[in-house]
Amino acid sequence: MKYADSIVDLVGDTPLVKLQHVTEGVECTVLVKLEYLNPGGSAKDRIATRIIDAAEASGELQTGGTIVEPTSGNTGVGLALVAQQRGYKCVFVLPDKVGEDKIDVLRAYGAEVVVTPTSVAADSPESYYSVSDRLAREIPGAFKPNQYENPNGPRSHYETTGPEIWRDTDGRITHFVAGVGTGGTITGTGRYLREVSEDRVRIVGIDPEGSVYSGGTGRPYLVEGVGEDIWPGAYDPTVPHEIVAVDDAESFAMTRRLAREEGILVGGSSGMAVVGALRIARELPADAVMVVLLPDGGRGYLGKIFNDGWMRSYGFSDVEEGETVADVLA
Ligand code: PMP
Repeated sequence: MKYADSIVDLVGDTPLVKLQHVTEGVECTVLVKLEYLNPGGSAKDRIATRIIDAAEASGELQTGGTIVEPTSGNTGVGLALVAQQRGYKCVFVLPDKVGEDKIDVLRAYGAEVVVTPTSVAADSPESYYSVSDRLAREIPGAFKPNQYENPNGPRSHYETTGPEIWRDTDGRITHFVAGVGTGGTITGTGRYLREVSEDRVRIVGIDPEGSVYSGGTGRPYLVEGVGEDIWPGAYDPTVPHEIVAVDDAESFAMTRRLAREEGILVGGSSGMAVVGALRIARELPADAVMVVLLPDGGRGYLGKIFNDGWMRSYGFSDVEEGETVADVLA
């Protein structure tokens, strides 16, 4: 019989697939790594196991303890999966730009969710950083994984994501591209790929226009899970060779194209990463092999990026007009 002992054992080993239709003007191979095929639906499943193992080993997390974390949703799902298996409670703090669907998912896994305003400074007592700090202090037996600073985040990508990509491309990868949120993915995966290739693989980070990584001041953007207004410790700025900024409109337009033209239903940060990746890929020779990491699936964004009314309300012009079956029937 072939089965896993627990859902947590199914994390990682996600496949690569070649982009076929959104690559006009590109001669090289562009492969995307589908992190939504992790059991919790995102790359964050990888960091959860490693972070919880380390906290148990250090005594920071003990029987009956509570995990408290500010998370845009995906880290919460990963942590909730592992917490369930080991009998911990979870409290997650989210900014209010996060979709209802994502919040409902966390609640479905049995976590408690606290929603905080997006439009306040990181050091405001109402910010999601501050609220989670206060809960971590006040709840007895609380452990705050702090994905922004925890070295086990990047380490999990160094130990799993990087080696998987190297193995699956037979060492032929020339460019690795990923969005930057906490910076854990680009730091861990990028460091591994640079080391194993003796610095032959070029590492490219993508962030939303306005975010600090590409020189912005932290002004708001709508794409979720990437970009920062502070510099997290999980990010090592010496790993990426280059950071490319992409705006919301382009990110969301590509996210919709990936679903319609490639059959890949992913979130806005995946669309963002692909826009940045293709800008670079257009300049590359045919023998280059680019791998773009797509962090999560699109089902958490149905009411936003995939909703024409929502897109129009923010002035995104990609929404196609034209005759529909309903028009024909009318
Ligand atoms: N995309 C989404 C949807 C995310 O939730 C995250 C994690 N914050 C990222 C991208 C970026 O990953 P990382 O934190 O490893 O930089």
